[in-house]
Amino acid sequence: MKHLSYITETFTESVIREMTRVSDSMNGINLSQGFPDFESPADIKQSAIKAINENWNQYPVTFGEPELREAISKKAWTFNHIKSNPDTDITVTCGATEAMIATLKAIINPGDEIIIFEPFYENYGPDGILSGAKPKYVRLHTPDWHFDYEELAAAFNAKTKAIIINTPNNPTGKVFTQAEFEFIAALCQKWDCYAITDEIYEHIIYDGAQHISLASLSGMEDRTITINSISKTYSVTGWRVGWAIAAPNITARIRKVHDFLTVGAPTPFQHAAAEALAFPDEYYRQLQDKYQQSRAHLTETLVMAGFKPFNPKGAYYIIADVSDLYAMLKAENDMDFSKKLILKTRVATVPGSSFYYGKDIITKQVRFAFCKKQETLDAVRVLFSTLL
Ligand code: GLN
Repeated sequence: MKHLSYITETFTESVIREMTRVSDSMNGINLSQGFPDFESPADIKQSAIKAINENWNQYPVTFGEPELREAISKKAWTFNHIKSNPDTDITVTCGATEAMIATLKAIINPGDEIIIFEPFYENYGPDGILSGAKPKYVRLHTPDWHFDYEELAAAFNAKTKAIIINTPNNPTGKVFTQAEFEFIAALCQKWDCYAITDEIYEHIIYDGAQHISLASLSGMEDRTITINSISKTYSVTGWRVGWAIAAPNITARIRKVHDFLTVGAPTPFQHAAAEALAFPDEYYRQLQDKYQQSRAHLTETLVMAGFKPFNPKGAYYIIADVSDLYAMLKAENDMDFSKKLILKTRVATVPGSSFYYGKDIITKQVRFAFCKKQETLDAVRVLFSTLL
């Protein structure tokens, strides 16, 4: 038989999805994959049911239903201070995941380099490979996940095409600051490259941290592609509605890729999304309160059980240092630790190394997702109480 694709041969399986399968197979508590186990807001569900009953069941406008593009444009202006024209600057995609790969496919030529902060959300690695880009990784350093300005500056060169930034950040919870963005913006302008920002956790933010959109900085509006989705903000990760906002010349390319990749995101969910984007401020406040409480609760549990959590400023994950627990579980590396932790406690986590490129990386860290009901987090506390 002829050889299958050399490119896909290099892919490893998504560890997040693998841990989810292990967890499901043993009736575990899945703190590995970042999806809510509580109900989605009643209003957004009603909007989707209404859209189906109103017969919004055929192909959408391929780059997004007009109502949704209008709603995205409005919210991008009021919340993110990004100006956009719904007719020329917005592409609705199947989740932020498709927005990212469609964007990369739209802008990358073979040999182009992209800069990715590490640890990174595991899709960005394969995204880079699929688009033909050569990724360069720049480390975020504990305890606050800062990057070294000199190290970042040294990663840029004439071949740099784009930098990918996820803020608030998965898996670290880092929220990029104005000062960091000004430094990044200057580098993008100096080296004439694009910035792709994944802002899917923009409403999940703590301790007075502020979400900033890089596209709102002067000089960045035409070179930034802002990616977002309804998945995390409205707790509907299975609906697969996301988008990319970019200048018309970039959008025209993204739309072409998107059209051939998926044709369009699910039509009824686009109509529901358009209504959700107009939810009152109170909705976002409640979402934050919920996650603030969940973060505090899981942090307490982890400290009690001997983990050393790094406090996230945003998103809904906690990375914890597990070196003190290695011996007890006879763990050989962080993957082994996660697997043994499930066997012992039924709690699924993601080993830290899956957020790094190098195969030899061992982090002695694991990631917990806390977008879970109170009773799930209570159950974790009980299961972990026997750990020490
Ligand atoms: N973003 C989520 C996570 O990091 C879900 C990833 C996925 O499985 N698509 O866990």
